[in-house]
Amino acid sequence: ELHNTLMELRGNIRVHCRVRPLLDFDRGSQDVKTLGRVGSQSEVVVHVLDDENVCIKTSKQTKAFEFERVYSPLENQDTVFEEVQPMLTSLLDGYNVCIMTYGQTGSGKTHTMLGSHSNDEYHPSKEPHKQEGIIPRAARELFSLISEKPPDTHSVEVSVVEIYNNDIRDLLSGDPNAKHDVVTASDGSLYVPTVSCKPVETVYDVMCSVQHGLQMRSESPTLVHEHSSRSHLIVTLTLTTQANYLNPVGSSGAESPAPSSARSPIDPTFAVPSTPTKDKQRRQLPPQPPPPSFSIRSRSPSPIRSMTPTLSGAIKTKLQLVDLAGSECVGMSGATGDRLRETSNINKSLSALADVLGALAEHRSHVPYRNSRVTHLLQDSIGGDAKLLVVACVSPAKRYLTESLQCLGFSQRAR
Ligand code: ADP
Ligand code: MG
Repeated sequence: ELHNTLMELRGNIRVHCRVRPLLDFDRGSQDVKTLGRVGSQSEVVVHVLDDENVCIKTSKQTKAFEFERVYSPLENQDTVFEEVQPMLTSLLDGYNVCIMTYGQTGSGKTHTMLGSHSNDEYHPSKEPHKQEGIIPRAARELFSLISEKPPDTHSVEVSVVEIYNNDIRDLLSGDPNAKHDVVTASDGSLYVPTVSCKPVETVYDVMCSVQHGLQMRSESPTLVHEHSSRSHLIVTLTLTTQANYLNPVGSSGAESPAPSSARSPIDPTFAVPSTPTKDKQRRQLPPQPPPPSFSIRSRSPSPIRSMTPTLSGAIKTKLQLVDLAGSECVGMSGATGDRLRETSNINKSLSALADVLGALAEHRSHVPYRNSRVTHLLQDSIGGDAKLLVVACVSPAKRYLTESLQCLGFSQRAR
């Protein structure tokens, strides 16, 4: 109980660390994902002490780091998702949710976020794959939660974008090079009106869109995995809930959305889909919640939720799943031309992210979201009352000592 209370006091940011197993390429045999260092430094320097503590140990120093959760190399995708699962319930409760993976190239970010991602494996006729990452699992959980609700009360849309050189690229549109801007709605929520949103009803639908997006990404001038480590990938699932069907607020009672249909479908006419115009006539607009407070972060769970009411009285919440660019670029020198531009943009965006997380963790009144597209785009799903999980991914190998120290150091700033 005490543990739970402490967790709540920490607010809405959770930081986990995942140490992946030592792999062949850590030994320097295959240089595909290495950072140009040679030698067989296969020695393990990152040690998981228990499920909250990890240390980096060399002959010269030992540095310890504490997290809310540390996943050892032996822990699988199921275990990681166990921690993520409750966040999906939050989404149906009216909160925005963001899950992101941070770390150097090759540290396991995409494995954690996406896992194996052959489209076939998500076909409705197939069993869920053991190596699935957070994106397909979260989608599966979301659709499963929705299936328990009355029909036509919840709908989901997907968008897939990347942020490359501080530009938003819509990977589901025919023209990924078109320009997009983040817009603030009158209620303070943020959206990119020009980005394609595709209605989805199954995990398969979601993963087909993700796969399509990944293919568009690879059409860029640089090689696929080269490129993927140099841009941030953001998959957004937007959930639209008819107002009466939002889960009730826990015990706070500060706000009173209509009771959940699970208990009492109070408006049976609403449960039957009718034409939108009829809806508007019959239903009154729910009282506008106060605008989400991005700058002040309360220590206790806030009664104000991130939901965005639409004109028809429906509520929109979003789940943003982010595979960040490789953090090894931070501090990298000697780059020129396009590479220098990419590197400096990755640098700027990751340090802007660190600044935002630091400001949130310290409950500072000013949070500098606008310093970078990535923090601006994610503003209402990482700040205010939204729930954020950062998974810091590290390799255990000695050859990545510097990168691992940087990654764990970054992650500590958000705590
Ligand atoms: P990143 O996206 O950070 O560049 P990847 O997710 O592509 O890194 O991981 C690099 C390699 O390590 C991939 O071949 C991946 O399958 C493997 N890998 C990463 N994490 C794990 C893990 N927890 N267990 C097994 N293999 C992993
Ligand atoms: Mg990757």
